[in-house]
Parts: sequence; structure tokens; C-alpha cells
Amino acid sequence: KLYNVVQDLKGNIRVYCRVRPFLGGQPSLYSSVGNVEEGSISIVTPSKNGKEGKKTFNFNRAFGPASTQGEVFADTQPLIRSVLDGYNVCIFAYGQTGSGKTFTMSGPDDLNEETIGVNYRALGDLFYLSDQRKDTISYEISVQMLEIYNEQVRDLLTTDGANKRLDIRNSSLSGINVPDANLVRVSCTSDVINLMNLGHKNRAVGSTAMNDRSSRSHSCLTVHVQGKNLTSGGTMRGSMHLVDLAGSERADKTEATGDRLKEAQHINKSLSALGDVIYSLAQKSPHVPYRNSKLTQLLQDSLGGQAKTLMFVHISPEADALGETLSTLKFAERVS
Ligand code: ADP
Ligand code: MG
Repeated sequence: KLYNVVQDLKGNIRVYCRVRPFLGGQPSLYSSVGNVEEGSISIVTPSKNGKEGKKTFNFNRAFGPASTQGEVFADTQPLIRSVLDGYNVCIFAYGQTGSGKTFTMSGPDDLNEETIGVNYRALGDLFYLSDQRKDTISYEISVQMLEIYNEQVRDLLTTDGANKRLDIRNSSLSGINVPDANLVRVSCTSDVINLMNLGHKNRAVGSTAMNDRSSRSHSCLTVHVQGKNLTSGGTMRGSMHLVDLAGSERADKTEATGDRLKEAQHINKSLSALGDVIYSLAQKSPHVPYRNSKLTQLLQDSLGGQAKTLMFVHISPEADALGETLSTLKFAERVS
């Protein structure tokens, strides 16, 4: 099957949808998800006269509840390869809390070769492919892991537990960067696993005080790749951002007040800013509103131009998630 990002009519943006399975053996009878085809998903909606309605949504690719991590990654893999050719790539996981974002990007708590998510597989591919090219190109790979919470950027790769706010800079030499965040050189998959464990641990530190902060912050694993051609001496850079977004659920459902409401407003603002940026890019609009959130500022270099974007939208199969499912699919429709 041909994977053709560059010549895609809408530019370099692809949208995949993934439906997670029922958890804990719930009966599938009550699912709001009907048919899952290769490129579409139909949603069953109750209509006023008691008859069920059906709405079909189209994507570049749709994954049903039985899809494995390996199958999902197989359709992602060509993007990883392009990072080594000097492209900037962004992969996002979008969806309400509990819909499977972290499962897709990282995997479940019990990680093994089968269950590991896109992050680990992507890094594994980068090492494998860079090794294959080592006679012609020498690559340096380094990673950064950041969290954006309430429009503040924080380093997830600190060992001193420091929690200071970091600034996003734009320099002519290195483009958009966060100079005060740790950037760690890695040379094999186990280096990366150790760093991701540190990042996840640091992310969890915030959670004890504010209970499950991870669903209300964005986490961004950034991989910088620098290649030097051993014969010509020419250099090139590529980057990959793997972003596990904050839960997209609307605040009014939980009748949030105080800190919760503030968190929800920040999340709404940054997710809609992301939607607006991708929409403007897809429309080839001359003005792309990157400045409206920390997330889109951070990713400015990697959204638009020659950069490639993959958005995984996640939906839960449960009928009581229908409202959030439809709002997630509306987001997907707008950016695709
Ligand atoms: P989110 O990050 O969107 O809040 P999670 O990834 O934590 O959601 O998923 C919620 C729960 O569902 C977790 O227990 C996770 O292991 C499980 N889960 C999610 N997606 C799948 C899947 N495709 N297959 C099996 N279990 C899944
Ligand atoms: Mg999560």
C-alpha cells in the first residue's frame, strides 16, 4: 500500500481514528460505534422518534478495537523514516480521558514487545535505520521531554525535581527551542526507555497533589536528529514530536470550579489553538495563528511547511461517551 504524505491533496496532514476495546468485559451491545472500515467509522446516535440514527466519519485510516499496537504502528512507520531524511514530524494523540491516548503513544502499564506504543517503536526504528545508514551518514539523536500544564512549560527530564517554568525561544540558529530544558543524547532503545521512565515519574509527581494531572497536561517527547553525510560533509536536521495531549472532555460536564475550571479553560484554549493551526494549514491560509497557545508556539517549526503531521483521534466505544465521541470526531473532521 502506498503511503503518500507529500502529495496528499490537503498537504501533509493525516488523521487516523482509533476505537479502544470495551474495558472489563462490558457488553458490546451498548456501543455507540457501529462499523469500522479501513477509512471510516460509523457512529450510532439515538434520534428523537426512537429510531437509531447513523453518522459516518471518514479518516485517512480507522482502527477498530481489535487493532494491535503493531498494526497501528505499521501505518505510522513511513513518517519515522522521513525524520532521518530531515523532515519535522508531529504525532498527536487526541481524545477524551480514558479513550486510549497514552495506550497508543506509550502503551499500557505492563509493557512488553507486543504492547509497547508508538514512542518506543518510533525510537527503535530511528536507531535501526540510522545504524543501517552508518557507512554514509553519521547521526546524532537526542531527546527532550516537556509538559505543558496551565500554559506553563516544564522539563520532565530533571532529576532534581525542579519545577521551574521554562521559556520557549526562537533563534535563527536552532529555530524554536527551550534552551533550559535537558536535551539528552541517546544511542540505543534502553537509553530512551530510562528517560521515558524518568519523564513518567516526574509527571506523576504533579499528580499526587492534583490527582491525575497527566490527563490535564500535554506531554511532548521530542527527538532531535542531526545527520552528517560522511562523504560530502553536508549536514541536516530532522525532528519528531510525540505528543500525548490533555483530555479533550468539556469542562461543563464536571461542573468545574476554581483550579479545575482554570485547568479546563487552558486545555480548551490550547486544543482549539491546535485545531485552528491545523485547519489554517489545511486551508492554505496565509495567516497561521501559532501564537495563541504554548503548545502551538512550541511546535511552530514542525507544523506546516514541509513538516508532516499525524493526528490520532481516540474514541471510547461506550454509549455514554457519545457526546464526547461526537465532539472528538468534529475536531477530527475540521482538521482533516
Ligand atoms: P487516556 O490516555 O486517553 O486517558 P489510556 O491510554 O490511559 O487513556 O486508556 C484508558 C484505559 O484503557 C487504560 O487502562 C488502557 O490500558 C486501556 N486501553 C486503551 N486503549 C486500549 C487498547 N487499544 N487496547 C487495550 N486496552 C486499551
Ligand atoms: Mg493518558
